[in-house]
Parts: sequence; structure tokens; C-alpha cells
Amino acid sequence: MHQTEEQRRAYLEALGIDVWLPRDHADPDPGIAEVAPAQESPDWDALREAVAACTRCSLCESRTQTVFGVGSPDADWMIIGEAPGAEEDRRGEPFVGRAGKLLDEMLRAVGQGRDRAFVANILKCRPPNNRDPKAEESAACRGYLERQIELVNPRIILAVGRVAAQLLLDTDTPVGRLRGSLHHLGDIPLVVTYHPAYLLRSPSQKRKAWDDLCLAMRVANGAKA
Ligand code: SF4
Repeated sequence: MHQTEEQRRAYLEALGIDVWLPRDHADPDPGIAEVAPAQESPDWDALREAVAACTRCSLCESRTQTVFGVGSPDADWMIIGEAPGAEEDRRGEPFVGRAGKLLDEMLRAVGQGRDRAFVANILKCRPPNNRDPKAEESAACRGYLERQIELVNPRIILAVGRVAAQLLLDTDTPVGRLRGSLHHLGDIPLVVTYHPAYLLRSPSQKRKAWDDLCLAMRVANGAKA
């Protein structure tokens, strides 16, 4: 179903963002008809099984379950965070809880609900006490994410938060300097934005996150960034 202007305004207001839309992108979801959900292929099944049984790093010992990722296997948008937290580990789904709800609201505001995008993390298992991923863990797990990116082949990747952005772009530049410009992962354009958990703590940054989503939307829709 197409988003109405009213719905979009409601989302933005829910985020605490003053409604502002660039003139040439007044409709973030132009002409996209409702489509049947894409079916996953045998490649996806094999990948899903490999992740579920993975013991490549020691996080397999403390996880409740792996968190593979959710969404459409042929999504235009791929959202990548760092690793599952406690709630994600319990539920087997990335970005749940308050931060996940905020991310969902942000994505819906640009016409990319969780069912249309593909949402995943770099690590598929929860690091204990929500510590940052260790280099050897992200190296061990990276192949799964790379295969997911290959299978989804998105038009845009949104790297969410410092850890995901720095790991994906192999840099230690602060997220505040990575956001606001276009990067690439191979051939795929990549935009960096703040983690929704950070936005919950620093609501004044939501406006910048909205700008990041607008940049991603322009790129995904084929306009020059
Ligand atoms: S974090 Fe990744 S590499 Fe480590 S056990 Fe989990 S799925 Fe395997």
C-alpha cells in the first residue's frame, strides 16, 4: 500500500522530526506497487542452515540462538548493524526492542518497512554483555554477511551505528564524520547513520538521521547524491 502524506508526517512526528522534505523527493515511495513477498532460494536455505550451525568463533558457546536477519531477499535497502543484543539473542531477530521500533519507524518514513528491506548484523551471535565485536569474531562471521549482500544485491546499504560503519568501511573515522556522504562497499552505495539506540539517548540527532535516510533514498531511487 502506498504511504500517504498523512502517514509519513505521523511517522516523522513520532520520531520528533520536524516535517521537511526536499522538493524533488516529496514522495519517498514513488510508483511502487504492492508486490508479493519474494521467495527465498535454496542458496538462502543453505546459508541459513550454515549460520544456525556455525561454530567458527567462540560466540557460539554463549548464544541462545543465531540471529540471521529478516526481510525481503530481493530488497532494495539493506540495513546492517553490529551484533545482536540480549533481546535479539532471545528472539532470534535483529533490531527489536525500543531501538528496533525506532529503526522501523525511520524505515517506514522512507517507505522501507522491515518487510521490504533486509535487516541484518555483522555478527550473527550476541557478544556477552553487549561488548563490541572482537576483530577475530567479525572476521570469522564476515563471510555470511558478504553472502547475504551478494544474494540480496541491494541498491543501497545503510550502515547503522559506529561499529557497523567502521567495520564495513574498514576505518576508525568517527561515525559523525562518516555520515553525510556517500561510500561504497564494492559496487554497492553505502550510507552511514546513527544507531537508533544512540538516537534514543540523543534525540537532537534525529534530524541528522533523517537527512541520512533522505540521502539513502535519493541514491536508491537513482538520483545523484
Ligand atoms: S558470530 Fe558468526 S562466526 Fe561466530 S559463531 Fe556466530 S555465526 Fe559463527
